[in-house]
Formats: sequence, C-alpha cells, structure tokens
Amino acid sequence: MNPRPTPPDVDRVAAAKAAVAARRARAAVKHSVAGRSRTALDVAETAWAQPGSAEATLRVTELLTSIPTLGPTRVAKIMNSLAISDRKRVGGLGTRQRSKLRDYLVGRAGGEPARLVVLAGPTAVGKGTVSAYIRENYPDVLLSVSATTRAPRPGEIDGVHYYFVSDEEFDRKIADGELLEWAIVHNSYRYGTPRPPIDTALAAGRRVLLEIDLQGARLVRQAMPEAILVFLLPPTWDELVRRLIGRGTEDAAEQTRRLETAKVELAAQDEFDVKVINRDVSQAAQEVVELMAVPVST
Ligand code: 5GP
Repeated sequence: MNPRPTPPDVDRVAAAKAAVAARRARAAVKHSVAGRSRTALDVAETAWAQPGSAEATLRVTELLTSIPTLGPTRVAKIMNSLAISDRKRVGGLGTRQRSKLRDYLVGRAGGEPARLVVLAGPTAVGKGTVSAYIRENYPDVLLSVSATTRAPRPGEIDGVHYYFVSDEEFDRKIADGELLEWAIVHNSYRYGTPRPPIDTALAAGRRVLLEIDLQGARLVRQAMPEAILVFLLPPTWDELVRRLIGRGTEDAAEQTRRLETAKVELAAQDEFDVKVINRDVSQAAQEVVELMAVPVST
C-alpha cells in the first residue's frame, strides 16, 4: 500500500506553481544582493523577522555566494568558520548561528571594500587586453607594472608594459625584497610584481590591479589575504584555442606548451573568489573594476 497517496491534480498544480513562485522570489533576493541594491545583512534580518519569507527559505550558502566579492572557495571557508552546514536555510538557523552570521555580516558591512584585485586566468584568455582597457578607461586604478627578464615585443615600452630587466637585476630585486611575488612563467622567463608602488598606492587609498599568472596569484593570496582573486575565463575552450593560435607570436612548440599550461590553469578556477567571462573586453573590464567599487570615468 502506498503510505503517501498521490494528491489530486489540482493540488499538485497549485504546489508546483507555489514552488516556482518561491524560487523566483529567492532568485530576486539573490539578484538584489548581487547588484548591491540590498545588503546580505538586510536579507538575513528580514529572514529572521519574517519566518515565511523568501529571505527565510534562502540557503545561507546562496546568500553568501550572491555577495559580489565572494566566490565559492571563500564561501566554503566562511561556512566552515561559522560552523553552519551547507544545507541550512537562513530562517532555519538557531540563535547562536544567527548571532555568528550577523557578526560576520556586520563586520563586512563596516569593512573597507577590497582595493587590491588580482586578475589571472589561462594563457591567451585576454588578461592583457582587459588590463590594457582598464589602464585606458579607468585611470584611477593603478595597474601594477611587472618586472620581467624577457625581451620587449614590438610596441612594448619599458616602464609602461613591463620593466625589462637583466637576470642580474632580477636577482637583485629578489635579494632586496622588492618583489611582492615572482614566478617563472611558461618555463622560460621570470616575472615579478614590484612591491613599493603597490604599498604606496594602497596607503593613499587607491585601487590596484595586478595582472599576473596563477602561481603569482597564489603567492599574493598568501602575502595579502584581503586581495580579491579574479579568474578570467574564455567563453569556450575552442575560443581559447582560437585566441592562442590567432595571436601568432609564438612558434608551434611554444603554442603546444602554452595550451598544456592553459589546461592546467583552467583546472584551478575554483580556487578563485570571482570568475569573469571574457566575451566582450569592455564588459569584462567593467566587471573587474566594479569589484573595486571605482566609479566609471568618462
Ligand atoms: P607575456 O610574456 O605574454 O606578457 O606574459 C606571460 C605571462 O606572465 C602572463 O600570464 C602574465 O599574466 C604573466 N605575468 C606578467 N607579469 C607577472 C608578474 O609580475 N608575476 C607573475 N607571477 N606573472 C606575471
């Protein structure tokens, strides 16, 4: 015998409609947090004041993930530190969990927006194009100029695109502690981020963008945990291959090596706080800059 008799059709239709409406209402709440028209703290307070509301039925992970600067990795860490299980809904939290979540969200609300953003992503995804667009269109943002031991490409200017330095000079920078991070990229040349200009800019309240490789991004996370790590994604893998081959600045062996690196790099995307898809350069640049809450310059 079936212990749970099937409800009549009209009830099932009504229940399905109610479920769709509830899902839509929750999506609208998440959207408002993602678009910064509401704070996550306000959503939580509403959830606790109104037990049957859309806010109350939202999962805590969904609420945190909709905060623009929090990616899944960071959310998982926060949930762990708050000792709240993934399946918990905001309205279903006990008194102690509520007060922990409230303290966390109040802390965020009073906190400074992150001013250091690291832009990384697979080879040829267009990090350079996006950061060049930011340099042109958002002059308030300091774009860090890296030091490198590779030779300039046609059109590259020393001190603008890179500081082109000798191996000896790079060694000296490391020895003198001048680099925030450095790495050997594509098994060939060394690249590093000079620290003094970044410290000066942050101390003066400026926003700073670093466009570096994955190894560098990990090192910055260790040195400056407050940095937001952004992973730039291609619209599709095929598009990434097209962009890589299309650039035509490397020989076949180098292209193969870079494709292999790109595969490994793509696999690291979940370590990042935010993912931005590079469909359109100006759109991707805007998304990156918005993470730093810099007004759009005209
Ligand atoms: P390219 O030689 O094509 O300009 O850059 C090669 C790679 O080096 C890119 O993936 C770029 O993000 C990375 N890169 C540039 N500057 C730095 C840096 O200062 N540190 C690290 N770790 N990588 C960098």
